[in-house]
Amino acid sequence: MINIPGKDTVFCDKEGNYSLYSSEEILTKRLNNWKGWKCSAGVSTIHITSDGNIFSGTCKVGGLLGNVFDADVEFPEEWQTCTKEWCMCGSEMKILKVPSSDIDVNKLSKPLNLTEHTATPQWVGMAFSKLTSVFPKTVTWDLGRRCNYSCSYCPPSTANNYEAHKSFESLKTAVNSLLYKFSTIQRVKWIFTGGEPTLNPAFIDILKYLHQFRHIAHTQTNGSRDPNYYSELIEYSSIGFSIHFEEFNEKRFMNNCEAILKKKSIHPMASVNWVGVRLMVAPGGFQEALVLKEKLLNLPPLWGKLDFVNMSPLYEKEDGDKLMSYSTEELNQINEHL
Ligand code: SF4
Ligand code: SF4
Repeated sequence: MINIPGKDTVFCDKEGNYSLYSSEEILTKRLNNWKGWKCSAGVSTIHITSDGNIFSGTCKVGGLLGNVFDADVEFPEEWQTCTKEWCMCGSEMKILKVPSSDIDVNKLSKPLNLTEHTATPQWVGMAFSKLTSVFPKTVTWDLGRRCNYSCSYCPPSTANNYEAHKSFESLKTAVNSLLYKFSTIQRVKWIFTGGEPTLNPAFIDILKYLHQFRHIAHTQTNGSRDPNYYSELIEYSSIGFSIHFEEFNEKRFMNNCEAILKKKSIHPMASVNWVGVRLMVAPGGFQEALVLKEKLLNLPPLWGKLDFVNMSPLYEKEDGDKLMSYSTEELNQINEHL
């Protein structure tokens, strides 16, 4: 399969014709309607809220599975039928799913021929993973609501500036419980988000704990920590920066990029982790985002390169399914950089 940075969701038909999309492309092209499909969310993936509640995904299809800090959580073994009109979370769009329960998920076609658009997919799932529901299992974890930014479009249910951090011991106990009950000791892909997960003083220690069992980690961060922090983080986790222009400090961000890329060039563990940037573009913000994208794509050669720099439109604070009010021209411009 061809590797196109930032495009990690495959739509593949039964002849092996496949197309690759970023989550933002899937959203804006409205390819994210899988209502009635069989989806492996809950079996191959779970989403943990800031309060520790476990769902199959942010979609909450299938209902509450339990709380990660309780001892008696059970996980489903059967795929579920999607009941949602739209699948809105980028990481959940990549979850393996098929249009009908008649399809044998152990005999899915391999992606062979890259095409522009696969009209009748036999399956949708993540690029470069095995075509089964069991590997890699993914845990997406909103580690807490605490955030040092106050983006005007961020709902209070997602972020605040006062919530207490969870301790290393409580997080480790929860991780151990998930390893035994959800992943059955297999390697897991962990996606940490928030709030701002890097504010938790125990965060790097939890990553180190996972690293000793060779787990895969990805941290979604607003980029507000310093170069020393990110230089250490890249040893244990891939890093996805979300740039929020209302709070953005360009000088600090460039210093962070320099520190990360230099570490990647000399450190074996850091070199295998990727670093990408998602520019969160508010209405009227396209030109500013374009200028920054150009700068980020043309970093000094000695630093090395970012794996991708994408743009993303924003959604209404009160309605996470509804795009903010962009002019058609600006939305088209953003769509060219998804
Ligand atoms: S909304 Fe997405 S993740 Fe949830 S069940 Fe439907 S397809 Fe699966
Ligand atoms: S950085 Fe993210 S979590 Fe924090 S306020 Fe902004 S959008 Fe919300």
